[in-house]
Amino acid sequence: MFAGCSPAPMLKWIKADLHVHTVLSACADLDMSPREIINTAKLLGINLLAVTDHHAIDNVAACREAADGTGITVLFGMEVQTREEVHLVCLFPSEGSAVSFAALVDQHLPPSLLSGNTGEIQAVVTASDQVVRFEQRKLLASLDLSVEAVCCAVAGLQGLSIAAHVDRPQYSLLGNLGFIPPQLPVAALETSSAAAALHRKHPSTVGYPLLCSSDAHCLPMLCQEKYTYFFVAEDVNLSEISMALRGESGRKVCIKS
Ligand SMILES: [Zn+2]
Ligand SMILES: [Zn+2]
Repeated sequence: MFAGCSPAPMLKWIKADLHVHTVLSACADLDMSPREIINTAKLLGINLLAVTDHHAIDNVAACREAADGTGITVLFGMEVQTREEVHLVCLFPSEGSAVSFAALVDQHLPPSLLSGNTGEIQAVVTASDQVVRFEQRKLLASLDLSVEAVCCAVAGLQGLSIAAHVDRPQYSLLGNLGFIPPQLPVAALETSSAAAALHRKHPSTVGYPLLCSSDAHCLPMLCQEKYTYFFVAEDVNLSEISMALRGESGRKVCIKS
């Protein structure tokens, strides 16, 4: 071997769920704490999670800490609601890039507060499920940023944008815009539909990698009929996922039961 060459990493199939909410999302159950999520993921044999609360990343580090030593990798993520009321799952290669994106989101989120009489809770917690604080700002509201502006900002941070639940009639790229804009930098489409049915109904989806994620708001939702599997280096990171979505260097992705 030449000096400076490192051996190609061993590739293996890993089971993934790239869309999971915690107690920081007002719509999530109180049992969506870091420890409970990681324990449930471990029971289900999930190796890779993305924590994707609405417009916040504050519980991702706690989930990563809770996953320490379990063999589960937790990616920094956020679910965004654009000006068009389209949901995008945004994934980041590092805490720094996620923090930069969160600062941008902070500037474009309406300043309204959670209504006190809805009983909704947005909790920032530790890895051992202790409450650090309750977030009072209403996190689930449309940003004053377009789909294109969000995708470009994420790409500028070397992140990935995934069109969330595209086959739902509301809060989705297909439901709200009716098609996937051709030049939009989305890395994949999250869907519960079979590929053939999706392509038949929406020809603009042809050519995009498809993912199946839980969008879990309670622990039982983590248990799905189908999962996304990535064939990537065991030491998985966002760059490996990106290569798998593009089918590069032997990496690949598929949905299976
Ligand atoms: Zn959503
Ligand atoms: Zn979601």
